[in-house]
Amino acid sequence: MTVSVEQHPVASQGDAVSLLVRYLPGAVGLRRRVVHVVPLAPGRGAPTVLVARCGEEIGRDLAEVVDPGVGSPCSVCLLLAPTASTGHK
Ligand SMILES: [Zn+2]
Repeated sequence: MTVSVEQHPVASQGDAVSLLVRYLPGAVGLRRRVVHVVPLAPGRGAPTVLVARCGEEIGRDLAEVVDPGVGSPCSVCLLLAPTASTGHK
């Protein structure tokens, strides 16, 4: 089950707020439908264009927000995630 970006309750992990986003079905080829990590500025709504950690820019009208564990993750986003390496700050 997915919800729109506007309706998604943004989870807060300390100061870091991020969404797990992928393209809607049919928007791009299957191989590009990986789940990207999109960092958001705290206290602000989702921007018109969601910019993932890896640099992928996804128009909000083409994006769907997914729960953790859904779909195949973008390997670049995972590598760039601050908690992916050693876990300490
Ligand atoms: Zn990515």
